[in-house]
Amino acid sequence: MRCRPIELGTIEASFHCQYVSNMQRKANTHTSLRSRLVAGVGAMLVPLAALAGAAYFSFENAIGKFEQTENKRLEELFPLAQLDVLLSESNNLVEGQLSGSTMSARPRFESVSANIHATLSGMLESPSQLPEKRTLILRIQKQWLAAHNDAGQLFSSAPELPPTAKLQAQASYEEHVTEALGSLQQLNYLLSHLQTTENLEQAKQDRQYVRQVIALVFLVAIALMVVSAKILSQHILVPIQRLKDGAARFGEGDLSHRIEVETQDELSALAHAFNHMAKTLEQSQSDLVRLATLDGLTGVYNRREFNRWLSAEIERSQREYLPVSLLMVDIDHFKKLNDTYGHQAGDEALRHVGRLLQREVRPGDHVARYGGEEFAIILPNASEAEAYVVAERIRAAIEAQSIPLSTEQSLRFTASLGFSTFAVDQETEESFAQRADQALYHAKHSGRNRVSSAAQVALQTAEAQAAHN
Ligand code: GH3
Ligand code: MG
Ligand code: MG
Repeated sequence: MRCRPIELGTIEASFHCQYVSNMQRKANTHTSLRSRLVAGVGAMLVPLAALAGAAYFSFENAIGKFEQTENKRLEELFPLAQLDVLLSESNNLVEGQLSGSTMSARPRFESVSANIHATLSGMLESPSQLPEKRTLILRIQKQWLAAHNDAGQLFSSAPELPPTAKLQAQASYEEHVTEALGSLQQLNYLLSHLQTTENLEQAKQDRQYVRQVIALVFLVAIALMVVSAKILSQHILVPIQRLKDGAARFGEGDLSHRIEVETQDELSALAHAFNHMAKTLEQSQSDLVRLATLDGLTGVYNRREFNRWLSAEIERSQREYLPVSLLMVDIDHFKKLNDTYGHQAGDEALRHVGRLLQREVRPGDHVARYGGEEFAIILPNASEAEAYVVAERIRAAIEAQSIPLSTEQSLRFTASLGFSTFAVDQETEESFAQRADQALYHAKHSGRNRVSSAAQVALQTAEAQAAHN
């Protein structure tokens, strides 16, 4: 971006351009506010992602454990279902044998019986057997052995067996099979109960585990968020608050204030821009004050500032009952000096007198150019006698000074002075100034290069009037 100075002089314009490009370079080379914001929000999102991850893995873990328990139970329940089917099949074979509808059922029955034996043996051999489960399996085994025995009688000797013995063997078989099925059902209940209890216990443990993991991640997330928020606020909110306070102070007119922003980003560039603006305004303000209060040629106060000081010092004199004197200084035959040496030499003479007057008075006194080649000096806290001493010192100093114009030419001149001392509660500001002016007029008419006091003039006038009467 090109720098476009607005309504500035050449030097200010180049300074402005340099300043703007410096700021742009600074803002580009350091971490930008956007990067900080992105990093800060990112840091705040990390705990949320961790929380989501922890919840997902806890859930996966819990479901995995449930699946494991379920698979284990299914493995345990499968032989039971198999056994139930085999017992029913053996029942059907025995019934078929008795009704005579099934011929040569014995081999099939023996095969089913072998399966039942194998299943029961497998169940007994499986690891981590509970005593109740083992007892029930052994009972089923025992009942099946008895039933198998009964069935053996029915199959092997069915044609020769008397009907009553046949009925007895059938009843005994049915009783043992029913008992075996009852035990099988008990075993089923036992395993289902165990499964439910284990599932409940597992759920309890999982809930506890998930709670702990989530609580831990939550605490870490909160801690991370607090730290991120603190860092973010330190890097963004604090500088913004400083900018806001600084802008408010500038608005209230405190242009000497400077905003301190330690970061190296857009906010610090803004603070520098604010500070630069305040500095420029401060400079312009002091230039304006100087232009509004000082005389351009001599550097002493101008007439308006003189009037302001005169009112202020009279007010103070009245308030504190302290004397204040006013001195009027007028260069003698200045018109002639201008005519002889030129206007430039006249200006140089005025500058010299301005400097001389400031040198000869105390720091609290106020030197002003009253108009043309006439100066006025307010002497706070100076009585008539003290004012006379100051006036005489000034007169002598002006008479003694020699202003070099060239190597062979120098300028010498004199001045006439008149002064008055404020009569508290007896006169106004206008009459005070008027009396000093009259004293000056008196000094001029008494031959110039002298000092006249207003009191002395008044005395002489009174004496002259008395003589006239
Ligand atoms: P007197 O001894 O009675 O005071 O005579 P004078 O010549 O000093 O007084 P007069 O009022 O006749 O003349 C004042 C002259 O001062 C007239 C004017 O040209 C000159 N003057 C006023 N202001 C300036 C200035 O800023 N620069 C210069 N060089 N001359 C000035
Ligand atoms: Mg004069
Ligand atoms: Mg004059």
